[in-house]
Amino acid sequence: MNNLDRRTILTTGAIALAGAAASAPAAAQAGPKSMFPVPATTIPIVGETDVYQVRRIYCIGRNYAAHAREMGSDPTREPPFFFQKPTDAIQNVAVGSVADHPYPSLTKNYHYEVELVAALKSGGTNIPAEKALDHVYGYALGLDMTRRDLQRALGDEKKPWEIGKSFDRSAVLGPIHPAAKTGHFTKGAISLALNGTVKQNSNLQNMIWSVAEQIAKLSDAFELKAGDIIYSGTPENVGPVVKGDVLLCKLEGLPDMSIKIV
Ligand code: MN
Repeated sequence: MNNLDRRTILTTGAIALAGAAASAPAAAQAGPKSMFPVPATTIPIVGETDVYQVRRIYCIGRNYAAHAREMGSDPTREPPFFFQKPTDAIQNVAVGSVADHPYPSLTKNYHYEVELVAALKSGGTNIPAEKALDHVYGYALGLDMTRRDLQRALGDEKKPWEIGKSFDRSAVLGPIHPAAKTGHFTKGAISLALNGTVKQNSNLQNMIWSVAEQIAKLSDAFELKAGDIIYSGTPENVGPVVKGDVLLCKLEGLPDMSIKIV
């Protein structure tokens, strides 16, 4: 192939690509449209006008030894376990605001769990822990809100605990901070105050399974993809809220996040 041929092919290819890009929106409009459109769940990204679209929400259970003990289990390094929340369970909380969070139905023992949340930009299966953080786009501060009475009752009956963990607005979340700016969170103080009194107070170093190890373990069970976020577990001293309570969550290196139970 001489240079002229190659240039011709490249030019033709470029035109074809440009044509495809230009016609893509028209093609999308021409295809079947949703009978009942469903909005995408997105999370704001600090410093970006674009947003982070959520694909799945994974959560790890009992990932701090002292919390495992308070939940009545043995905190030895048994394999981690995971559950999911529905994507639209996210309640976004802006930095500097105190977001109203409605007390949910059915429960009389509604608990806070402050957690570091990792947001993936890519994924795969069987990801080695040493490579896992390459898939993390950024981090946020989150609350895994829990109907503890229902979670416990369902667990005791060996039934799925969906109603205790995976209900509307149960995934409270601050904005995502790109790891390119903050670095990765492998240590640092994490705390939660209830009406000004510190209740949960630990360090990310006390996690039984690090974020990297969680990604590795999750990827053995699921194909992870961009848009997957992971609630990385809560430290000890979870507890109940009532209407009117204000929760203030802190993670060293990120802005605070706050909600009021209404
Ligand atoms: Mn949790």
